[in-house]
Amino acid sequence: MAAITMKNIVKQYGDGFPAVNDVSLDVQDGEFMILVGPSGCGKSTLLRMIVGLEDITSGEMRIADRVVNKIAPRERNLSMVFQNYALYPHLTVYENIAFPLRLAKKPDDEVARRVKETAELLELTEHLERKPANLSGGQRQRVAMGRAIVRQADAFLFDEPLSNLDAKLRGQMRTEIARLQKRLGVTTVYVTHDQTEAMTLGDRVAVLRRGVLQQVGSPRELYEEPSNLFVAGFIGSPSMNFLPATVADGHLETPLGRFEMDERKAAAVAGRDVVLVGIRPEHFEDASLVSDEKRARGAVVRARVDVTEWLGNELYAYVPYEAPEDLAAQLRDLSRELDSDQLRTQAVVALDAASMINAGDETELWIDTGRAHVFDPATGENLT
Ligand code: ATP
Repeated sequence: MAAITMKNIVKQYGDGFPAVNDVSLDVQDGEFMILVGPSGCGKSTLLRMIVGLEDITSGEMRIADRVVNKIAPRERNLSMVFQNYALYPHLTVYENIAFPLRLAKKPDDEVARRVKETAELLELTEHLERKPANLSGGQRQRVAMGRAIVRQADAFLFDEPLSNLDAKLRGQMRTEIARLQKRLGVTTVYVTHDQTEAMTLGDRVAVLRRGVLQQVGSPRELYEEPSNLFVAGFIGSPSMNFLPATVADGHLETPLGRFEMDERKAAAVAGRDVVLVGIRPEHFEDASLVSDEKRARGAVVRARVDVTEWLGNELYAYVPYEAPEDLAAQLRDLSRELDSDQLRTQAVVALDAASMINAGDETELWIDTGRAHVFDPATGENLT
């Protein structure tokens, strides 16, 4: 097993902006690290530089105590699981799993023993004589993992391994991978664009955007203390609402109403005119279900709900709002960090399924303003 240490890693293809731009990241021995970000953010390129499938333009890559910049992939002792499994169709499950051991010219009895152990671990024992074509998607995925773990590599690297599976199977495999990784305790780096996978699988998550590392932390840290607008909008589902707001004495004027600020928030926004207030959908509640004591700790606002979606365990309500046009225009100019769909003119609110709010209702919502974040609209930095 091994730690992976990346220092100022850059990957430049041609003349454009770097695919990976000055990334420094430590993956500890035995840690499960997720690399996450939207398409094109550089996560696969970074993974490929760890494995050695891509040259490093500058910076230093260490695995255990060795600088591996110039070391060939097969000498790094890493195992990689790809998105498309890359199984050999003409070989049985047994031979697919055995493949890395055959390459390493291991004796037959050792091959047999290790394939057997791996198959048991992955519940593939009864399928060992089948060919990949006769397996389900989940079983194929397990064979691909079997081939990765049979070799006892120093680290596992996964490149979107579940993206070809349907939603239900993806959920199952996610749990299996998490369980397997904990059991084997092997350093793991896992690339995904799926924030649910990122939040549920990793010990820590590294969020990338346009080649730049935005934040590294536990799922809880990213959720509760996002360092900027991008991370705040990327982590959490449905994503955080960003409301334009003007700063007044001790409170914020938002299109949904007035939010009082505690001293810490007031100090953080001192001297500013406009900010973006971030509130997660789940930090709204149906005010009729909230105790008096709780009402006093947040803001109660009147809102018109135009659409509702009942999901069984939750009720999503959509609340259109109008930001003053001059403020909205100013923010559009300022907010380089916001994708256009995040500059919404509606708030998404996730309520308790017991709420009786219906589409068309004029209602009262309670907002947990203590958990609201305030962002600098120009830089995207979280000020709170
Ligand atoms: P996806 O989720 O779509 O795979 P990603 O986050 O993994 O995206 P990368 O595949 O690492 O992103 O690509 C990062 C950037 O580098 C992209 O802008 C991509 O177009 C560019 N890129 C990747 N490979 C090459 C290459 N071989 N030559 C030139 N540019 C490349």
